[in-house]
Amino acid sequence: MKKEVVSRYAPSPTGYMHIGNLRTCLYEYLTAKHAGGKFILRIEDTDRNRFVADSEQVIFDTLHACNIKYDEGPDIGGKNGPYRQSERLDIYKEYARKLIDNKSAYYCFCGEEEKTEVEGEFTVHHCDCAKLSKAEIEKKLTAKTPYVIRFNAPKDDKSTTYHDNVFGDITVSHKEMYDIVLLKSDGYPTYNFCHIVDDHLMGVTHVLRGNEYLMTTALYTLIYKAFGWTLPEYYHLPIIMTVDKETGKIVKFSKRHGSVAFRDFVEAGYLPEALINYIALLGWHLGNSDEEFFTMEELIKVFDPKDIRKSSSVFDYEKLKWMNAKYLTQMNLKDFYKVAKPFIEKVLNKTVNMDALLKLIQPRVQILSEIPEKIEFFEKLPDFDINLLANDKKKTTLEIAKNVLTKSLEVLGKVKDWNNDNLFEALNSLATEMGLKAMSVMWVIRLSVSGSLVTVGGATEIMEVLGKDESIARLKSTLARIK
Ligand code: GLU
Repeated sequence: MKKEVVSRYAPSPTGYMHIGNLRTCLYEYLTAKHAGGKFILRIEDTDRNRFVADSEQVIFDTLHACNIKYDEGPDIGGKNGPYRQSERLDIYKEYARKLIDNKSAYYCFCGEEEKTEVEGEFTVHHCDCAKLSKAEIEKKLTAKTPYVIRFNAPKDDKSTTYHDNVFGDITVSHKEMYDIVLLKSDGYPTYNFCHIVDDHLMGVTHVLRGNEYLMTTALYTLIYKAFGWTLPEYYHLPIIMTVDKETGKIVKFSKRHGSVAFRDFVEAGYLPEALINYIALLGWHLGNSDEEFFTMEELIKVFDPKDIRKSSSVFDYEKLKWMNAKYLTQMNLKDFYKVAKPFIEKVLNKTVNMDALLKLIQPRVQILSEIPEKIEFFEKLPDFDINLLANDKKKTTLEIAKNVLTKSLEVLGKVKDWNNDNLFEALNSLATEMGLKAMSVMWVIRLSVSGSLVTVGGATEIMEVLGKDESIARLKSTLARIK
């Protein structure tokens, strides 16, 4: 029987969810779910200096918003718990002692940093603690001398090779390895150690993570070996790049070049579904297919980690915007309202024809944060220069504007069913009757009800949103200003 695929996402709670972390998480999730396996969330909170309160909640909320469902995790439990490393300290102590017993690790009484130095290209640690006798160690332990536990790395001219499923065989010379700390003097483990213990105990079969771990993983494989454990399948993910707007250069995707946090994108009005879709493509694509649009269900069906690419992908803000716009336009009006509502309510408190407003803006925004600016004039007629009503191109003068407004007030007053078609029909006939071009009438009306040169929608669409009373009131007030 084939072994169940188990993957895990193991974030350090350091404040916010970087898009790169979310990609790792998504790929881990898809790898497990594609194979019908299990996905675990584990919080790696042993680095107390980097710990940021609340960030665990950020992780839960982000995964929830993205529809990434873990089968085991700190808030839902599971048979491999606890899922916070800070709650597993006794486990790490127990396993560190196993390595001491088989001489793969040793008590070091020199401190964490002392005697570890950079010599040329390599880091080396030289102390004699590995050679202490059992009695000497016992004495120091009884005297409560602080200690760390170090891995006894090989000190020969050989090298270690392991297979990474993205980057191929990775060989690291033993010269590049040294006696790293497994357990610190405060009893906390280092990442280097505890992630291995956890991955093994939790039955993790597939590890996907950033390629900053590509080289150190060679040393990790030696720790696995020291325990006599089987290695998981490794997939180190290429770094994400972006284009620096100022220099045009391809640079590491970081805060310096724009938003990188999931939350910032959502606040700017990107849909989590669109983000997930876009992120999925940052390092993976479906065989020879050009298909770019995938729902989460589709991704689960088609995502095979063997299709992860080795080359770095470039995060393209414009492409993401374009993709987001596609998602927005495909929504039904009710769903669109749900996501647009907070952005609409930033500027609009008065009652308008909401359906008409939604239909107007849905195809015209790429991200939801563009909404407030576009619809502000619906709340209150902005002050505008009345002379703009006279426009050569539109063939209008102030006199024409005055007449158009006077007449249209009569005509529009009679419109019973206040909708775009009827309003259009009424103004069009008025233009013919007055011997004017339709564009002249529309110009006067649109400016009079919107106070803006550039608007979402034309004159009659805007009036449909505003409703009869408000439209007429605005036309009257503009007319009064001309007079
Ligand atoms: N806590 C590590 C990180 O956030 C996890 C790396 C791993 O997945 O092993 O970088």
